[in-house]
This record gives sequence, C-alpha cells and structure tokens, in this order.
Amino acid sequence: MRQGPCGHGRLHELGNACYAWVAHEAGWGYSNAGLIVGESSSLLVDTLFDLNLTAAMLAEMASVTRDSPISTVVNTHANGDHYFGNQLLGHAEIIASVNAAAHMSQSDVESLRADLQAPGVHGDNVRRLFGGFDFDGITITPPTRTFEGEIRLDIGGVEVHCITVGPAHTDGDIIVYVPSARTVYAGDLLFIGATPVAWAGPISGWVKACDRILDLDVETVVPGHGPVTDKAGVQETQAYLAYVERAATECFNQGRPFEEAVAGIPLGRFGVWSEPGRLVQNVANVYQHLDPAFPRLSHIDVMKRMGDFEADFVPEES
Ligand SMILES: [Zn+2]
Repeated sequence: MRQGPCGHGRLHELGNACYAWVAHEAGWGYSNAGLIVGESSSLLVDTLFDLNLTAAMLAEMASVTRDSPISTVVNTHANGDHYFGNQLLGHAEIIASVNAAAHMSQSDVESLRADLQAPGVHGDNVRRLFGGFDFDGITITPPTRTFEGEIRLDIGGVEVHCITVGPAHTDGDIIVYVPSARTVYAGDLLFIGATPVAWAGPISGWVKACDRILDLDVETVVPGHGPVTDKAGVQETQAYLAYVERAATECFNQGRPFEEAVAGIPLGRFGVWSEPGRLVQNVANVYQHLDPAFPRLSHIDVMKRMGDFEADFVPEES
C-alpha cells in the first residue's frame, strides 16, 4: 500500500497491474478511481470531482505512470465526481458509454456553482455536502470515444473490458473488468459503507447489473465509493436494492403515499451505512417506475427530504 501526502485519498496496489485510488471517506463527492498500468501506457478509471483533487491524485500516481503514461481515461458514468477532472487528461482518449456522454455538459458545473450560492435551506444543504470542493476553472471535457455493449482494449499488453450495465445508478453506467487480474472497477454500482442512490433505475436493472458482476471471474472489486471489496460487498449492495424495491413496491400496491412509504420502511442492518436519507430517492424511483404519472422530485426537493430524513434518523440496534 502506498501512503502519500494527499489528504483526500490513497493509492492501493492491488497487484497484476491494477491499482485503486480510494478516498478517505465514502460520502457525497468523495469518489474512488482506478489505474491499470501496462507496459508502455496506462488506463485511468474516472477522474475526481474537482481539479485540485484530480491533480493531487495524478501526482500520487506519477511514480507508477512515469514509464507508462495515462493514454486512456474511462468515465464509469456521468456524475461530476467521476468526470469533472477530465480536462487534466486532455491528451488522452476519453471513453464513456453513449448514454453517459449524453449527460455530460458544462451546465452540470454551472448549476452546482449556482446551487452553492443559493440562499436558504437548499443552499445550506448543498454547501453542507459540496462546500469543501472547488468548482472554479472546470471546463467539461467530454469523451472522445463512446460505445454501447462491450469493448475490449489493449493497455500496454493488459486486456481491459468496458461493459455497459445501465441504466442503474445512472443512465449510462459501465464497469471496467481486467480478467488477468480478476479485478473489476464497478463505479457507482457499488457504494461500500454508504447507501446506494438510484438516480436512473429501474432498481431491478441495478439488481441485474450486480448479477453481471457476480457472474464475472473476480476476486477484487473496486467500488465508486468506499473501501475495496469482493463479491460479498456486491451481494450486500444487491440485498439493499432488492429489499428497498420489494418494500416500496408493496407500499405502492397498498396505495400508501410516497411519504408514508419512506417513513415506514425500516432500514435494519442497512441503517448503519452513511447517507441513509438516499432511501427517499430510491423509493421515489420505485414509485416513478410503477406509475409514470408520479411526479419527478426536483433536485432541490430530494436534497431537502434527504436532509430531513437524516436529521431524524436513528439506526436500529442490530
Ligand atoms: Zn460517485
């Protein structure tokens, strides 16, 4: 394990050409990344939420990429904490799924900057979650190559598979699989120690995406947030998703209002994960998929409801 001076994360050597950049915390915006180092070139899985974080990570990686510079970046999906740092790799080929690329735009950064300046409760919520990041100077640098299905890359002699598995967490999720290392980079299909959040769904699609990972010959699984795990981590995330989908569907079928469903679904052992309030978005997602007329909650509304949920939340004794 490498222990660098960067205060945000640490580069872990996983073996067989694979590394994981693991943030010190699993919460909002503090994302992981991956590095696959071949003979003469390397592949970076995801950039980070701002330029300072991404630059610090690249500086930590420099000792292992000196003879194998990063030639390829793969963005696992279109949330800013996985691609806002792309411009620092402007010389590289940048790969994402067609659907992820369609969601990347300069307005993502601008709306976040505006939200940080917003008055009142919404501004306070955004500042509480994202006030520690610096979004100045970010010019969205979109993918130079997009794909659907699966592509195989040769990164300095290391075979790398990029596989679309969305929509799940977002519209365009992909996983990055290195068969020779029995390692997969799962992006935000996996939050370890933090609650998953379904922005796109349907959640049943995410459950299937977990099966896709479980079907791979892997022993090391790098999540988008939280510590490196294995198939047990995938199974636990899948168990939460299947549970919430089942419980929310039951509430919907009983005609219970959305608010009542959120308040009435016990989190049990999953309640020890950080950000339990993401249940709000997950239940809303189930209701939206069951009833196309169910109104989409605005970003502002979701943030407020998550904050309210967490202010009152007490994990159960297990
Ligand atoms: Zn993320």
